[in-house]
Amino acid sequence: MNRQIRLAARPVGFPKESDFEMVEIPVAEPSEGEVLTRTLFLSLDPYMRGRMNDTRSYSPPVPIGGVMVGRTVSEVVTSRDPGFTAGDVVLGFGNWQDYALMTGKTLRKLDPASAPVTTALGVVGMPGQSAYVGLLDIGQPQPTETVVVSAASGAVGSLVGQIAKIKGCRVVGIAGGDAKCRYVVDELGFDACIDHRAADFGAALARACPEGVDINFENVGGAVLQAVWPLLNDFARVVICGLIAHYNDATPAPILDLRAVLIKRFTLRGFIITDHNVRLDDFQRDVSAWLREGRIKYREDIVDGLEHAPEAFIGLLHGRNFGKLIVRVAL
Ligand code: NDP
Repeated sequence: MNRQIRLAARPVGFPKESDFEMVEIPVAEPSEGEVLTRTLFLSLDPYMRGRMNDTRSYSPPVPIGGVMVGRTVSEVVTSRDPGFTAGDVVLGFGNWQDYALMTGKTLRKLDPASAPVTTALGVVGMPGQSAYVGLLDIGQPQPTETVVVSAASGAVGSLVGQIAKIKGCRVVGIAGGDAKCRYVVDELGFDACIDHRAADFGAALARACPEGVDINFENVGGAVLQAVWPLLNDFARVVICGLIAHYNDATPAPILDLRAVLIKRFTLRGFIITDHNVRLDDFQRDVSAWLREGRIKYREDIVDGLEHAPEAFIGLLHGRNFGKLIVRVAL
């Protein structure tokens, strides 16, 4: 049987476990050109919150009763595509379920001997590529510049800061709580990390950025972005990668004071990583080399059991994950 986690109701505010339902259906048979896969690992990512809303976005919403969308690392069970054989390990959109039917052209084969397969969901996957493209192509870091990155211990933020260090920048992270901040400085090598939950957050951030901020890699928005905004230097680049503090808002967030964009001549740019696949090979080459050379570290937060995916996903929206959040579905 195939266990699936489906969207039961559209959340109002933060999702609840009752917004999801688990059903069991028979495992389907592949048609010509299709591959039947068994999910090994499911990636849980903040963008999934947007797919739970029935609003116009860059991707269509999950319908009520639809299987929750998600990237997976899976093992091929049966293949009716000549490019794949049983036992191959593949990256694809297998979604929140034990078994999936996918067409071969949507899959990428992974080599389990060359890297742990979970890295294809994190440091050398979509979040890593977002860090690489957002920082290098949009942020355009120059040596000695100050880079501030929020959600700094997470999948995207941890890599942004480490690449910025490789490029010779001063890097200040923002993260929730002491343990994450210590990890960001002691393990990842950022110059400083400020706890956004601390009472003196804004003042502490200003003290950590005595020369102001040249690049703000924004993953959060809300009070975090508001604290960075007055510290931005002339010609700063503000890279809007994510606004997780707003994903559960029922009404649009208040707009920041845009006069600063004019007066300080900022570049303010959002991006969606799927528009940047032209950089996939460059990203994989560079990040794989930095990993091999020990210049980059990554951390994964692996939760056991598909049935725990809703709880883990809700935790991500509350900052309870510590590293790239992945569900081990089978092994
Ligand atoms: P993370 O691993 O960083 O996990 C999310 C983290 O966000 C939490 O652990 C928490 O960290 C922080 N957070 C959550 N809610 C709040 C809040 N209200 N205020 C402050 N911090 C909060 O996730 P990812 O690295 O996968 O994603 C980071 C961001 O990048 C997200 O906004 C995501 O949507 C975006 N993204 C955008 C892409 C694009 O194409 N533009 C592609 C991939 C990701 P803490 O405890 O430190 O606060």
